[in-house]
Amino acid sequence: MVDIAANLKRVQRRIWEAAERAGRDPSEIALVAVSKLQDAEAILAAYDLGVRHFGENRVEEASDKIPGVNSKLAQRGGIPPTWHMVGHLQSRKAKRAVELFDIIESVDSLRLAQEINKRCERKVMHVMLEVNVSGEASKYGFHIGKEGEREEFFEAVEGILALPHLKVQGLMTMAPIVSDPEETRPIFRRLRELRDELRGRFPESDWPHLSMGMTDDYEVAVEEGATMVRIGRAIFESL
Ligand SMILES: *Cc1c(COP(=O)(O)O)cnc(C)c1O
Repeated sequence: MVDIAANLKRVQRRIWEAAERAGRDPSEIALVAVSKLQDAEAILAAYDLGVRHFGENRVEEASDKIPGVNSKLAQRGGIPPTWHMVGHLQSRKAKRAVELFDIIESVDSLRLAQEINKRCERKVMHVMLEVNVSGEASKYGFHIGKEGEREEFFEAVEGILALPHLKVQGLMTMAPIVSDPEETRPIFRRLRELRDELRGRFPESDWPHLSMGMTDDYEVAVEEGATMVRIGRAIFESL
């Protein structure tokens, strides 16, 4: 049996301690429990322990789980949690993603943003822009490493900010897998610096959020300014 309560306590304490070390207010950091591969029972257990943000990475799986979890909660008089799409999204699944999720963290092209916008009808969709800071070929996200790539990214941002149904909340990244979490620090720092640059270039959006940090590196991410950490294994598995 996985002790989700003990896991959550540990994760929350470590987030709190990392925030303290950085002189930050721990209450400004949202814990997103990444519930991919978890069943409704595990999700509801985490909800009952106070988790109000959940992340899923596949539209099909989310389609099987989210409506069921939300209706179970509604029967108990509970308010639904905030559902985050954190995985790569194909344009043809944008419509379903808009129906299921409250925020899409993985917007990685102007084309995808346009498709989401088109599918919103009267809804305003909260989105984050995924940035591939490390430039690894295995990862999705906007590349920003080379001068030309940065300019292309800024052009895409301009186009995305002009879409009437989208509200851009900030940036998301995944750090490379490394043996020492300290090695991820420059990646998280670069995402924060990029956010600061975007605030200067595009002040029409306030760029409030940085979604960064997973099971192996969330403490470093919090020290570097994360406002959302996306944690799966440290909550739902016995490590
Ligand atoms: C799975 C996943 C996570 C959580 O990863 P853990 O290592 O289990 O904490 C976070 N973000 C994304 C995009 C994921 O796919």
